[in-house]
Amino acid sequence: MGKAVAFTDILAAANRLAPHIRRTPVETSLALTERVGHPVHLKLEHHQITGSFKLRGATNAVLGLPEKERKRGVSAASTGNHGRAVSHAAKATGTRAIICMSSLVPANKVEAIAALGAEARIVGKSQDDAQVEVDRLVAEEGFNNIPPFDHPDVIAGQGTIGLEFMAALPDLDAILVPLSGGGLISGIALAVKTMSPKTRVVGVSMERGAAMVACLAAGHPVDVEEVATLADSLGGGIGLDNRLTFNMVRDLVDETILVSESEIAEAVRFAYEFEREVLEGGAAVGIAALMSGKFEPRGPTGLVLTGRNIDTRVHREIICGTHPAFEEA
Ligand SMILES: *Cc1c(COP(=O)(O)O)cnc(C)c1O
Repeated sequence: MGKAVAFTDILAAANRLAPHIRRTPVETSLALTERVGHPVHLKLEHHQITGSFKLRGATNAVLGLPEKERKRGVSAASTGNHGRAVSHAAKATGTRAIICMSSLVPANKVEAIAALGAEARIVGKSQDDAQVEVDRLVAEEGFNNIPPFDHPDVIAGQGTIGLEFMAALPDLDAILVPLSGGGLISGIALAVKTMSPKTRVVGVSMERGAAMVACLAAGHPVDVEEVATLADSLGGGIGLDNRLTFNMVRDLVDETILVSESEIAEAVRFAYEFEREVLEGGAAVGIAALMSGKFEPRGPTGLVLTGRNIDTRVHREIICGTHPAFEEA
């Protein structure tokens, strides 16, 4: 068992993170409010530095390392939002970072990591090969792996979103949170349930490869096949050796909802058309749950919009309605 996360850890994270992160705005969506008949409030966390909330957890984890450890450097195997976050967090704290990735990763992603100040190390031909190099850096060179979700400081960092949402809107009936490995919703649920036990915390994943939902159904962590989805940031498993997020999601989250590819595409288009917000698929699943009627609001509802790092070509196809996802059931 890993060290449990406490509400006080989230309060401490808020203090530690204050100089490093943007306190993102909360705005009311008139279009969604009108559509569902209850007030809908959006936490614009896709406006966070690096374009996603992952900066909070990564920065809190880097700052949480003892000085001696931090001096040796940090490493991660993600080229997505977590890799960007670790790169930026390391640079901001004067820490060396090596982000490991396979030779199949597109050049623009490699450049984005390098532009954030980290060393992009190309190893092997798969994500697994990249992880082997991270493990080697940890074992042989004293680097610290910063994991994307299953770590107490990462969870506490993401939980600061819950503090900010509750401070802005103490009377939310429900909060809808995109769900993958569960670091985000574990932290938010701990904050929200402590401050407002009656507020429902709802996880939303894509139908195609929803790992945590499969694990909840099985009653323990299981392997789930990864398939292509518009919500690519929500792909991947929770780890068979999951220490924290499986238990926290099982104990704190009230409900989970799955949305289809066409529902995600509609939500990304809606966000652009009515809110002028650019969202990646994984960030739009809460809007999809509302628009599809799969989530039925009973009062003021909060949505966490988590990221905006979508491929511009994919985004254009969605806005124009030509993306193949619109054809899927
Ligand atoms: C990582 C991520 C999520 C899911 O966070 P977890 O802690 O893995 O559940 C949601 N949205 C975006 C944009 C992400 O990058």
